[in-house]
Amino acid sequence: MIVGVLVEVTNKNVDKIFEYTVKEEDRLKIKIGIRVRVPFATRIIEGFVLEIKEKSTSNHTLKTVIEVLDEEIVLNKELLQLGKKMQEMTLSSLIYCYQAMLPKSLKAGGKNKASRKFEIVFTPLKEADDTLSDMQKNLLKRFEGRKKRRSELKDISLARLRLLVQKGYLKETKEEVYREVFERGKKEQFPLSKEQQAVVNAILESSKDIFLIHGVTGSGKTEVYMELIEEGLKKGKSSLVLVPEISLTPQMIQRFSARFGMRIALLHSALSDGEKYDEWRRIERGEVDIVIGTRSAIFAPLKKIAYIILDEEHSDSYKQDNNPRYDAKEIAKIRASYHHAKVIMGSATPTLESYARAKKNVYQLLSLPNRVGGGSLPLVHIIDMNQELKYAKGHFSKELLAALEKTIERKEQAILLLNRRGYSSFVTCKNCGYVVKCPHCDITLTYHKTSNILRCHYCGYGTSLPKICPSCKQEAMKDLGVGTEKIEEELHQYLKDAKVLRMDFDTTNQKGAHEKIISAFAKKEADILLGTQIVAKGLDFPDVTMVGVLNADTSLNMPDFRSSEMTFSLLSQVSGRSGRNKRRGTVYLQTYNPSHYAIVDAKNNDYFSFYQEEMKNRFLMKYPPYYYLVSVKILSKDEKKCFQEALKIKKTLEKNLDQTILLGPSADSVYKISNIYRYRILLKYKRQENLHQILNQLICYYAMKGVVKIEVDFNPVHV
Ligand code: ADP
Ligand code: ZN
Repeated sequence: MIVGVLVEVTNKNVDKIFEYTVKEEDRLKIKIGIRVRVPFATRIIEGFVLEIKEKSTSNHTLKTVIEVLDEEIVLNKELLQLGKKMQEMTLSSLIYCYQAMLPKSLKAGGKNKASRKFEIVFTPLKEADDTLSDMQKNLLKRFEGRKKRRSELKDISLARLRLLVQKGYLKETKEEVYREVFERGKKEQFPLSKEQQAVVNAILESSKDIFLIHGVTGSGKTEVYMELIEEGLKKGKSSLVLVPEISLTPQMIQRFSARFGMRIALLHSALSDGEKYDEWRRIERGEVDIVIGTRSAIFAPLKKIAYIILDEEHSDSYKQDNNPRYDAKEIAKIRASYHHAKVIMGSATPTLESYARAKKNVYQLLSLPNRVGGGSLPLVHIIDMNQELKYAKGHFSKELLAALEKTIERKEQAILLLNRRGYSSFVTCKNCGYVVKCPHCDITLTYHKTSNILRCHYCGYGTSLPKICPSCKQEAMKDLGVGTEKIEEELHQYLKDAKVLRMDFDTTNQKGAHEKIISAFAKKEADILLGTQIVAKGLDFPDVTMVGVLNADTSLNMPDFRSSEMTFSLLSQVSGRSGRNKRRGTVYLQTYNPSHYAIVDAKNNDYFSFYQEEMKNRFLMKYPPYYYLVSVKILSKDEKKCFQEALKIKKTLEKNLDQTILLGPSADSVYKISNIYRYRILLKYKRQENLHQILNQLICYYAMKGVVKIEVDFNPVHV
C-alpha cells in the first residue's frame, strides 16, 4: 500500500503530494482525509492522506508513514474537492486551503492534539430495595433509570456515589462529553408578517439558487431565515448561518436555540480549541442541524444542507485578509451547488457588487422595505461640526450632549459610535510635531491609556510613553486623536450620572467579553454603549432610542475606493440600532461634510439614491462592480530590490495581460510592516482568460527564487 500525503509545509513549491509506504499494522487504519505523521527531509511532520494506491509512480525508495493520527476522517470528500477549488480561486497553496477549513486541533501539525473531554458517568443497574437507607433510595430515584454525569450530581459526594457502586446498584464509567458553548434562549415566537411571508414563499417557490434580501434594519430578516431553516428541517436538511462578528453570535444563538433547541453548533474564534473541536465533531457526526458562526464556519462539515445564509452581506469580514484569501460568499456558492442548497444573503445596505448582480437577475432580489410591526425608521439629524465646533465640549456638540441627557432622563438607552477605521489615538510633541512611530513599521503607534503603553497595531511592538520628546528633548508629548477611552472620560465629565459601557478591541479580546457587555447593556446596567464599528452591527436592544455618531467622516477620508460605501453602510447600520421597539428612535451624526451624498443618503435612508450616485463614480473610475480587481503585493526586506522586482513584475504582466489595466507599482498604504517593505500593483479587468495562469506562474517563480515575496488578492475588500 502506498499513500499520497499533502504535508504541512507552506511553500508553494512543496505544495504537491508525496508518496509513502505504510506499515503492515497501519494499513487498516488508512483512509483518505485522515492525518498521518511522516518523515520529510530531516524532520518529522504531519500531513493529510489524499491518495491510496497499490504501486508508486516514482522509482525512488519511499519512506514509511510513522503514525496514523485519526480514527475519524478530518477532510471529507466535499471538503477535499472544495479545497482544490479554493486553491484555483485564490492561488494559495493547497495545504493552506485545507488548514484554513479546520479547527486548530484538527489541522496538520496542530500542536495541541485533539483533546477529548471525559467525565465520570453513573449508570443505574438495579432498583432500590430495603437494604438501602432512605437517603440512598432517594438518590437512586433521581436517576429515573437513566445514566447521569458527575456534573449533574454535584451536590452529592463522590464517596456516597461510589458506595452504591460497591453495592452493585450503580456502574461507574468514564465517557466523552462535549463542552457546552451556549445556553438555550427563551421562547418568543410570532407569526410572520405578510411581507416576511412573501419573501419566504418567493424563496421556497423559486428555481433560482442565490437570493439577496434587501431589508431595512429591523425588518425581521432573522425571522425569515428561521422560517426557511424550519422548512429545510422538515425535509431532514440542515442549514448554515454566517454572521460577520462574534459580537452578533450571542443574540443570534439566543433566538435560534429558543426556537430550535440544542441541535445547534456555534463556531467562532473566541471559543477555546477544545470547544471548537467538540463543536466540529458534533457537526461531523450529524448531531446538529444548524451551524451558526463567523467566516470560517462556512467550512462546517454539515452533510445535507438546505440553506446557506449570510447575514449582513455587506460585511468586510466575509473576506479573509491573509492566505488563503477566500471569500466566504464564493465558498457558499460552491458548497450550495454541491448540496443543491440555496444561498440567502441579507442586508440593509447590500454591497454594490451584490446589488448590481441582483438587478441583473443573477441573484433573485427580494425586499423588506418596512420595519416589522409598522415601526418607523429613526429620525436622523446631521450636525455640521464646522459650525458647531466653537460651542462643542470635547468631542461632543451641544445638541448631541443634550440628546444624550434627555435619553437618560427618560430611562432609555443610547449607542455612541466612534468611527475609527484608519484612525487612532496617537502621541505627538506639542513643541516640534514629532509623532511616535513604530521602529519596524511605517505607522504611528497607538496610545492605550489604561495600560499607559504605545502599541503598534501591525506588529504588536509596544513601548512606554516617552515623557521627553525624542526629537526636541522638550517635555511636551501629548496624546492627540481620540480613542474610546478618551470619549468615555469626556462622558463622565459632561454627563456625571451616565453609566457607560465600552466595547472595542481592547475590551473584547478576552473570551466571553462580548456576551458580558451585551448582556449587561440588555439588562439596562448602563445608559450608554460606547464603541467602535463593533456597536454598529446587527445588535437589537429594544430600549435603545438614540444613536450618536461622533465622527461620521473618518471612514470617508480613507484612501479607498469603497470609502463612501463603507461610510454609508456604517451610518445606516448604526442608525438602525435606534428605535427598534415601539418608540421612534433618533440619530445624531456629527460631520464636517454635511452635504456629502454618503451622509445625506444615510440620513434619508435612501439606498437607491446612494447606489445610483456611487455606481456613476465606479463606472467613471473603472472600479467594481464594473471591473474586477486583483491586488499584487511585492514584499521584501530589501527596499531597493523590492521596487526593482515590482517594476519587472509590472513589465511581465503588461506583456501577458492584454485586456487588463495595470496601476503602480506604488508604495502600499502601509509602506513597511515588521521591517518588510511593500509595493503594490493593482489590476483592473473585465475579462482576462489567462489571468490565473500568469499570476500563478509569477507566484511559483518567486517562491523558488525567493528575492521577494508575492501576495495576490482577488477582489480585495480594502484597497
Ligand atoms: P433585522 O435582522 O432585519 O434587523 P430582526 O429579525 O432582528 O430584524 O427583527 C427585528 C425585531 O423584530 C426583533 O426583535 C424580532 O424579534 C422582531 N420581529 C421579527 N419578526 C417579527 C414578527 N413577525 N412579529 C413581531 N415581531 C417580529
Ligand atoms: Zn510595528
